[in-house]
Amino acid sequence: MTPVLRIDLEAFDHNLRRIRAVVAPANHLLVVKDDAYGHGVGPIVRRAFEQGVRWFGAFDVETAAAVRAEAGGSARIFAWMVATDDEIAAAIDLDLDLGVGDPGLLDEVARIARAAGARAKVHLKIDTGLHRNGIRPEEWDAALLRAREHQDDGVLEVVGVWSHLAEASDAEDDAAAAVFDAAVQSAVDAGFHIRLRHLSASAASFLRPVFRHDIVRVGAFAYGIRPSGGPDESELGVRPISTLSARVIAVEGDRVRIGIGALHGLPSSLAGRVAVGTPVGMRPLVGIGAMESTVERWREALVGDEVVIFGAGGPSATDLAEAIDTIGEEIAVRVSPLVGREWL
Ligand SMILES: *Cc1c(COP(=O)(O)O)cnc(C)c1O
Repeated sequence: MTPVLRIDLEAFDHNLRRIRAVVAPANHLLVVKDDAYGHGVGPIVRRAFEQGVRWFGAFDVETAAAVRAEAGGSARIFAWMVATDDEIAAAIDLDLDLGVGDPGLLDEVARIARAAGARAKVHLKIDTGLHRNGIRPEEWDAALLRAREHQDDGVLEVVGVWSHLAEASDAEDDAAAAVFDAAVQSAVDAGFHIRLRHLSASAASFLRPVFRHDIVRVGAFAYGIRPSGGPDESELGVRPISTLSARVIAVEGDRVRIGIGALHGLPSSLAGRVAVGTPVGMRPLVGIGAMESTVERWREALVGDEVVIFGAGGPSATDLAEAIDTIGEEIAVRVSPLVGREWL
């Protein structure tokens, strides 16, 4: 009796429609890093493509290759963690949109594209204050000059400018957006035709309309994961798409044991802090072991009863996250490959 993660693809469709309606006319780039936040990159990309999604955010080249295999040549795939020569070569071969946040990397991309006889599509990243890679504002104009030379040589084209917001406070995000706007303006002044500006992830794309620009990079809300401490699913108009459940494997005294534990991806700090869904309602999660956990017993409990750790009939992933000061994405991506996936 192994635990299972059920993924409701109709709820996923609903979220994709909702995101499209909210962010239009901006395009939705669906972020599928970390195996589509644990939901399975293959089935998620296939479904999203059927639903009309044409932009995917892959993070690394390995994920990008999986997206290309599912979605085919017409999808645009953005990857922003490309560092080694082999990764750059593979990225060019896969015709990816490359996020470049380092002037040195720009030269590498140009060199490898030249050797391949290709023209790389580049999105330059400005560091707007997050200091998580990105070209520093004081280096931006020099980087534009370098990019200009490479573009004139025909080995790359700067198609976009992008950055990432901290989403910690509106004031910080406003300051970051001002740096971003100035960087875009400099690129335009330098003669680039910047068609793709992107800054926002889930929260900002819903809550800060002026930050939407041409593309929003949305992961969490597509999977129905609400922000910690933020608006709930009904206010956002999205639905959780996955349910993690396990079965009762023993009934003992005032506890039941269920067949899921830390090795399946349950953070052990959840023990004693949350309640999970049982056939008679929510019951405290008492302890978390390696492969099993314990839940407070309900009177009629039987071996084989289903207990919902998160999802329909239980708490949400973000409810769990809030109990241990993290974010719902973290709960979702920690669900181990030991847990079977079912796509419904
Ligand atoms: C993960 C990620 C996103 C998506 O963030 P969500 O809050 O899950 O929508 C967007 N952009 C970048 C650069 C990311 O790393």
